[in-house]
Amino acid sequence: SKKAIIIGAGIAGIATAIRLAVKGYVVEVFEANSYPGGKLSEIEQNGYRFDAGPSLLTMPQYIDELFTLAGKNPADYFQYQKLNTVCNYFYEDGTRIKAYADTQQFAQEINRATGEPAANVIKYLASSADIYNITNHVFLERSLHRLQTFLRWDTVRSIFKLPQIDAFRTMHKANETYFKDKRVVQFFDRYATYNGSNPYEAPATLNVIPHLEHHFGAYFPDGGMYSITQSLVKLAEELGVKFRYNAKVDEIVVINKIAKGIRVQGENIVGDIVVSNMDIWFTYKNLLQKHQQLHPQKTLNQQRSSSALIFYWGIKKTFPELDLHNIFFSADYKAEFSHIWQQQQIYHDPTVYVNISSKLKPDDAPDGSENWFVMINVPANNGQDWERLIAGARQNILRKLSKVLGEDISLLIACESILDPRSIETKTSSYKGSIYGTSSNSQFAAFLRHANQSSKVKGLHFCGGSVHPSGGIPLCLLSAKITAEII
Ligand code: FAD
Repeated sequence: SKKAIIIGAGIAGIATAIRLAVKGYVVEVFEANSYPGGKLSEIEQNGYRFDAGPSLLTMPQYIDELFTLAGKNPADYFQYQKLNTVCNYFYEDGTRIKAYADTQQFAQEINRATGEPAANVIKYLASSADIYNITNHVFLERSLHRLQTFLRWDTVRSIFKLPQIDAFRTMHKANETYFKDKRVVQFFDRYATYNGSNPYEAPATLNVIPHLEHHFGAYFPDGGMYSITQSLVKLAEELGVKFRYNAKVDEIVVINKIAKGIRVQGENIVGDIVVSNMDIWFTYKNLLQKHQQLHPQKTLNQQRSSSALIFYWGIKKTFPELDLHNIFFSADYKAEFSHIWQQQQIYHDPTVYVNISSKLKPDDAPDGSENWFVMINVPANNGQDWERLIAGARQNILRKLSKVLGEDISLLIACESILDPRSIETKTSSYKGSIYGTSSNSQFAAFLRHANQSSKVKGLHFCGGSVHPSGGIPLCLLSAKITAEII
C-alpha cells in the first residue's frame, strides 16, 4: 500500500492521518513537539490544568464523523455536552448579558438588558442562517481550487452578488443597520475575532458566525478541550498511524516536480504523498527553501490574522457570577481594533475573555479555586516591545476585572503562565504568532487562501488553519476532509 507522510500533529494533521489510514494508506506523522495537538494542547501548573489554546467547541459533529468513518462509536472515545448559556457578557457601563443558546430566550435577554427589540435579534439570526445556507457548500465544504470548482466559477460569482451574503459592506456597518443599541452592535461585532479579523474591515459575510454558535450550538468536551486531541490520536493509533515526536522536519524532498518524501534530523523518509499541516508560510520558507520558484508570493504576502496574549492564572477563590465563557467588553471597541490593526499595539482598555474550564470540569483546579484562562486579542508579532506591552496589559486587565468583579484579583493569583505572539510562533511554528493563518479582513480572503494541494508539485498537499478553508477547529477538520478527498 501507499505511504503518506504528514508533517505536524495539529488537529488537521491528525484528522488527515485518520482519513488516509481509513483509505488504506500507511501513515506516519512527524511532529516537532514532544506532544500532539499543536495549538490544541494543554498545560499544567501547581495542581491547575489549562487548555492552552482553543476553548470554544462548535460543530463537534466534524469530530464524531472521524470515529464513524473508522467504524467506531464516537461516544466510546469522545463525549461532550451542549451549553445552555454560551457566554456571559460584562459591559463597562454595568450592563450584563447572558447569551442563552435558546434563540427566543436569548432575544428576550438582549431586550431585557438593552431595550433592543427581541424581534431584531431573531431577524438578525435568520439572516445569519441565510448566509450560511448560501455559502457553506461553496466556500467551506469543498476545494475552491479544483477544476470542477472552476467550472462552477460562474456559480461562485453569482453567489457573491447575492444581497443575502452581504459581501460589500463591513460587519460593523451591517450590524449598525440591524441594531439601534450600541451594546448589541458591539456584541455581534465581536464575532469577527473568531477568526482573528477586524469587524470594521471584514465583510458582513462573516456575520454567518453567530449562526454557527446559536443554531448548531456551543459545546464543552467532558475531558476538556485537550481530550479532542487525545481521543483522535488514540483513534489514529488504533488505525495503525505512527506518530514520531521531537521530529522536526527540515525539508520536503522534491525531484522533477514530484514530492518524494522528507528529510528529518538527517534521515531521508520516502513516501508517495506528503501532507504539510504546518503553517503554509513556514512550509515554503523552511521546507521548500531550495525551490523559490514554487513560492506563491501573493498568497504568502497576505495580511495575517491577529494573535493573542494569554495569562493562565490559578485563582484561589470561586466566582459564582462567572461561567465557562466570560467576556469583559472594552468601552471603546473601535479604538481597541484600531490599536490592534492600525497601530499594531494593545489598547489600554482591552476586551478581556475569561475561560474557566473548572466550572464544568472541577478537577481542573484545587478545591475552592478556579483555573482562569485570560485572553485578549493582540496584533501579530512584528517585533513590538512585547515585554513592555505584556506588563502594561497585565495591569490593565487586572484593573478591569477587579473593578467589574469588585475584588482585587491580583491578590488571588496562585500561579501564572503566559503565552504571547512570540511563544505562539515558536511553540506551533505559526508565522508571526497569528492564530488563524491569514486574516479575513478582505472580501476576497476566501479565494486568496492557499489551496489544499500544490498546483506545481505532484503528491504535495496542505491542511490546517493557514490554508483553505480557514482556521478554527471545525474548519481545520474540513481542510483535512477536503485534502483527503483530493488525495
Ligand atoms: P497547529 O495547531 O497549528 O499545529 C501545527 C503542528 O505542526 C504543530 O504541532 C507544530 O509543532 C507542527 N510543526 C510545525 N513545523 C513542523 C516541522 N517542521 N516538523 C514537524 N512538525 C512541525 N479554534 C476554535 O475552534 N475555537 C477556539 O476557541 C479557538 N481559540 C484559540 C485560542 C488560541 C490562543 C489559539 C492559539 C487558537 C485558537 N483557535 C480556536 C484556533 C485553533 O486552535 C487552530 O485553528 C487549530 O488548532 C489549528 O490546527 P492546525 O491543524 O492548523 O495545526
